[in-house]
Amino acid sequence: MLKEIGSGIWQVEGPKPGPHIVVIGGTHGDERTGIEVVKSLQPMFAGGEKRVEKGKLTLILGNEEAIRLVKRATLPEHNLNRLFSDGHLAGPVLDFYESRRAHQLAPILSTADISIDIHSTALPSMPFLANLFGAKREKVYRWFGTDIVLADPDFILGGHRASTDEYVESCGGIGICFETGWEKDTSTRAVVTESILNILADQGLMKPDGPLRPPKRKYRKYQFSKRVPLTKAGFRYAGDYSGSFQDVKKGEIIGYHGDVPEIAEEDSAIVLQKSREKWAIGDELFFLARRVK
Ligand SMILES: [Zn+2]
Repeated sequence: MLKEIGSGIWQVEGPKPGPHIVVIGGTHGDERTGIEVVKSLQPMFAGGEKRVEKGKLTLILGNEEAIRLVKRATLPEHNLNRLFSDGHLAGPVLDFYESRRAHQLAPILSTADISIDIHSTALPSMPFLANLFGAKREKVYRWFGTDIVLADPDFILGGHRASTDEYVESCGGIGICFETGWEKDTSTRAVVTESILNILADQGLMKPDGPLRPPKRKYRKYQFSKRVPLTKAGFRYAGDYSGSFQDVKKGEIIGYHGDVPEIAEEDSAIVLQKSREKWAIGDELFFLARRVK
């Protein structure tokens, strides 16, 4: 039976050995989809509707304090998904909730064979996977409804290894991060829950309801190549670059920092654009990602 082993952390172990799978929602407290997915899986395993036959399942509400506040984090600078870094985890627990939470979750994540962290975007976006490529990961993430994978092997997003999936990978597990798409699209919740149940069945943790039919997908693979921050000079786009994974050609002027053009150095896609009201000097305006063949 599923037991609460910590605040917002539930775990159940099957009678036979098998992989440890960790499912996290609400690492960012205002991204409802992942929170709803964890909250719908929790009673299925607590109530006996679903049974873990092999291995171990851990369900986590990531940033519980921020979930209560309906905010991304308790303070904007306390992004829980940047705190799974070697430096932070090796140091003392700092005097804020996310530091305590990262230190509490790290030992669980370090024993995960597979972790699945569910995020969603503030602006309309196609769903995509934000984790490394590779056949062993694809066997897991193929169940999610997307054909886009955006990897960050050079840690351009956080500057260093810092997210749950990156931490799990550094511990020898498979770290998956699924961006379900636009937060306001509530239809994804049931679909994402179904994808996770399929992953659990495919990994042998539980019996499938029917025959498993893994989707066959041809992936568009991207890799973060550049972070473009807002400078004191300000920024204006040279055109409409609001599309999700919108192509930009080598030499194309995307916009201007004051008078200085931001020119694409190679054929890329523009990703993770920040909405204007969230712009802050030093923070990213957007990222560029190159297509990987
Ligand atoms: Zn997020």
